[in-house]
Amino acid sequence: MTDSIASLLDESLGYASHYLRGLDQRPVGTSDEARRRLGELEHPLPLEPVPASQVLATLNDYGSAATTAIAGGRFFGYVCGGSLPAALAANWLATAWDQDAGMSSVCPINATLEELVRRWLIELFGLPAESGAAFVTGGTMANFSALAAARHRVLADAGWDVGANGLFGAPEITVYAGAEAHVSVYKALSLLGFGRARVITLPVDGQGRIIAVGLPEITAPAIVCVQAGNVNTGAIDPLPELCAWAHAASAWVHVDGAFGMWATASPEYAPLVRGIGDADSWATDAHKWLNVPYDSGIAFVRNGDDLRAAMATSAAYLVQTDQREPDQFTPEMSRRARGVDIWAALMSLGRSGLAELIERCCRHAQRFASELNAAGYEILNEVTLNQVLVSFGSPEQTRRVIAAIQADGTCWCGGTTWQGRAAMRISVSSWATTDDDIERSIAAMLRCAAAV
Ligand SMILES: *Cc1c(COP(=O)(O)O)cnc(C)c1O
Repeated sequence: MTDSIASLLDESLGYASHYLRGLDQRPVGTSDEARRRLGELEHPLPLEPVPASQVLATLNDYGSAATTAIAGGRFFGYVCGGSLPAALAANWLATAWDQDAGMSSVCPINATLEELVRRWLIELFGLPAESGAAFVTGGTMANFSALAAARHRVLADAGWDVGANGLFGAPEITVYAGAEAHVSVYKALSLLGFGRARVITLPVDGQGRIIAVGLPEITAPAIVCVQAGNVNTGAIDPLPELCAWAHAASAWVHVDGAFGMWATASPEYAPLVRGIGDADSWATDAHKWLNVPYDSGIAFVRNGDDLRAAMATSAAYLVQTDQREPDQFTPEMSRRARGVDIWAALMSLGRSGLAELIERCCRHAQRFASELNAAGYEILNEVTLNQVLVSFGSPEQTRRVIAAIQADGTCWCGGTTWQGRAAMRISVSSWATTDDDIERSIAAMLRCAAAV
């Protein structure tokens, strides 16, 4: 039994190493051939067991090609980031441990690492020391968890127990968000019963930042959703002004900082997120700029009791200890040990390594912007962080250049429409991206743009 598991894991390691070694040579996007072959996987569930080694070989055969080289250095789509070696390896080990990480009684290592990482990150981000944290699947659930805590608190202050009585007949909460808030904030709000259409949107400037003058008068109970890092421009809302405005009316301020919050880790970029600690809750993603494997978001709430009140459960069979119980802060109960990868990433980088990672990505973004601009292409955003928006001319031309770049395969960028203008998005978020990757990618972009 043990031997067969070990040899299977060796095979898995072999496939993974081969995959990672090949990233530099393969096209970044998925080939049509690899997509077409996936059709061959469609057959009825086998009646008899298939040997595990064969299952794995089949997965490698069809699966490894049917991926995008997000783990390599030249994927600039969405806001992804690759997995740091230490985080990837720690994730494997933790998967082998197979821990049900919500409970300290059966999984003390995760409970210990989550608590440690909570303290490290609170200090790094400049949040209040007593803030509670939820280790969840990603930015969407981090927004959801933090806003659930907000919903609990603002209604409790209005004399209403939302956990017990729900929203029927509750005092009405007014929700504000910037006109360029991320879609996941709206998703979280709708899941929480606030309704997308009821959100009052606050006007933004050309970078997507909420304009902090002429703000409406707020009446409590209210929640204000602000943003640190617009998914297109990287822009950060004027946090101190917005917090002061909202708090004067006892409103709750939630910050969606999925990637932008990591700017706090760099002395050079921290001034952009000045005042972030004034808010009441925060959502961030570890699987973006911290470069841990997917399924890793974190919600922070100034008063940890508000988060616990929104999420805690109890049952006679669930053991409560004196330790922080991870499942008392999250929507899920059973789950993987997310604290492990985050701890490994932070340990392997240290403060200086994390600052350097952030600064290197921003420097790469600057280089994309200046070289594309020098070649005559318009940069649509102020490149203050790791995001670049470029226009190659008419909307049609920009879309054709994006398609050409994706087909060329040297690098991968997606498209967007920014305030009515077609643009290519470049997001530099990975530890794996080198100067050579940037040079090769710029050359490919210019080649494709000239050919279209
Ligand atoms: C990525 C992102 C999210 C959503 O995070 P997921 O991890 O994909 O759920 C939310 N807000 C912003 C600003 C983002 O960039």
